[in-house]
Amino acid sequence: MRTRFAPSPTGPLHFGSVRTALFGWLAARHSGGSFVLRIEDTDQERYIPGSEALIVETLNWLGLEWDEGPEKDGPHDPYVQSLRIELYQEWADQLVQRGAAYWCTCAPARLAAMREEQRRHSQPTRYDRRCLGRQDEVAAERAQGQPAVLRLRMPDGTTEWDDVIRGRVVFDNKDIDDQVLLKSDGFPTYHLAVVVDDHVMDITHVIRSDEWIPSTPKHLAVYQALEWVPPYFAHVPAVLGPDGLKLSKRRGARNVLDYGELGYVPAAIVNAMALLGWSSGTEAEVFTLQELVERFTLDRIHAAPAVFDPRRLDDLNGVHIRRMDTEDLVHALEFHLPGTSLETRRRLVPMLRERMVTLADAKHLAAPLLDGVAPDQADFPPKGVEPAVARAMLDACIDAVAAGMLEHEDDLLERLRETAKQHAAKVGAAFRVLYVAVLGEPSGVPVIQAMAFLGSDRALERLRAARARLG
Ligand code: GLU
Repeated sequence: MRTRFAPSPTGPLHFGSVRTALFGWLAARHSGGSFVLRIEDTDQERYIPGSEALIVETLNWLGLEWDEGPEKDGPHDPYVQSLRIELYQEWADQLVQRGAAYWCTCAPARLAAMREEQRRHSQPTRYDRRCLGRQDEVAAERAQGQPAVLRLRMPDGTTEWDDVIRGRVVFDNKDIDDQVLLKSDGFPTYHLAVVVDDHVMDITHVIRSDEWIPSTPKHLAVYQALEWVPPYFAHVPAVLGPDGLKLSKRRGARNVLDYGELGYVPAAIVNAMALLGWSSGTEAEVFTLQELVERFTLDRIHAAPAVFDPRRLDDLNGVHIRRMDTEDLVHALEFHLPGTSLETRRRLVPMLRERMVTLADAKHLAAPLLDGVAPDQADFPPKGVEPAVARAMLDACIDAVAAGMLEHEDDLLERLRETAKQHAAKVGAAFRVLYVAVLGEPSGVPVIQAMAFLGSDRALERLRAARARLG
């Protein structure tokens, strides 16, 4: 299997396009085949400088490495369409010679008027083939320097294919426009370049957004005219936002790289993206990239649109953080805990790991441990806790810590639980007293570990300050 991801450099990648890339990558890896990255930049008007670097950075960050493409070379180098223009022009000539394409000198103003007329009659807007019957005249006009585009002559009849995801798809060719293949400046359009490249690059499975389904009959007409065997097509459904609308660049879908800065880890993003429209066939939802490779097949992609649920991404992010290798986590937290030493982060990680939803949570979770000042104990004792219980918890904790029990965290935990029970208090509520005393908040990193991190002196200082407020 040879698959490809063929983004246009029109800005950063959002979840929809990353999910398409992921499906192509997983299909190739599962089959032991190759994954090609190709930059489709024939539409120079939509080009946004810097996009290619963002695409490369995003795929690298997510671990979706490609076998051929920019920065990798390969037998079909270059993998950037604007550097392959002559190739497309050669095949365009072939199409003309085979009667499958024709030149058109209709001026933009005429085409606009034609479309307007069609719209007024509620007809589909389509080129009316005025130039098809006057190719000799058109040749003379071109010789005099009149601008011309090359159009596909859409054959009569129907176009059908077995889509790997959709099943049988049928189009009446009458409904398909004579697509422009070469623009008047000789530049190919996407529709010509994509077919030529997928063919010469030996792509076996074209995995792409289902918004390209209406274009596929045009592409199949080119394959047919050039007597090429078309690849399999797998048109993946759209990704919808929580509002039910399609995620798109135009609607301001977020750059996937931004999620890194927000503290999402690549393993979680990849996991969440895979579940958008693909099912593993089991109850399990948590997968590493390697586990996805083992399980992924295209026939488990659903045809219905998938809804991106940010809460699911949050859940998966927490799970993948807890599974991360400790040293990797220590390094990943450098960005979110600026100014901390490696050693400090190594001591923080066991506590933070249990509580983080995103890596960015490290900042507020670690704050009461890193700041020199005692935390604010404004609401004390916390709501729902009797002052008598608060006193008992603090006294027990002060005595135990003063006696050196921070060295034995499990025993200390047990002792404090006993204290809560003796006072007929709920353990969770009673412990909130300690959380507020030590961390300034009723929740946070595990409080006994937090005291051990602070050391007996600082822990006692905070416990005693809280105790003093109860009288
Ligand atoms: N360049 C097209 C895009 O960015 C790719 C379509 C395809 O995969 O054929 O949407």
